[in-house]
Amino acid sequence: MSHSARAAGPVDVQSAAQCMCRLGGRCTSYDPGHALHLVQSRLAACTPTQWRDAFVVETGDDTVTIRWATGSGTATFANAAGASHAVRLGEPVAVHDRYRVLAIGAARFNLREVG
Ligand SMILES: [Zn+2]
Repeated sequence: MSHSARAAGPVDVQSAAQCMCRLGGRCTSYDPGHALHLVQSRLAACTPTQWRDAFVVETGDDTVTIRWATGSGTATFANAAGASHAVRLGEPVAVHDRYRVLAIGAARFNLREVG
């Protein structure tokens, strides 16, 4: 067996992760703004006091802009996995401050803050 014929190891698999969001596939990247990792989702669920309520005020192709329910301003987050298509203007959502998860009803998305 040649060296190149060996099975892919963890490092190979990790480096092969790539964004499939734009192709309509399930993204294998867990970078901020892409697929939500199970651990990220669980950590957010285990720290319920760090969710902040908000309302959707604008959506773009890959972005969701929210206004904090406390009235303390707005924030814009990017998610290439469809968050902007899963919300409606004015809809109440929650953002996990520490793990950057967006909750829309029962759905969860991995966020990247862009503004
Ligand atoms: Zn992606």
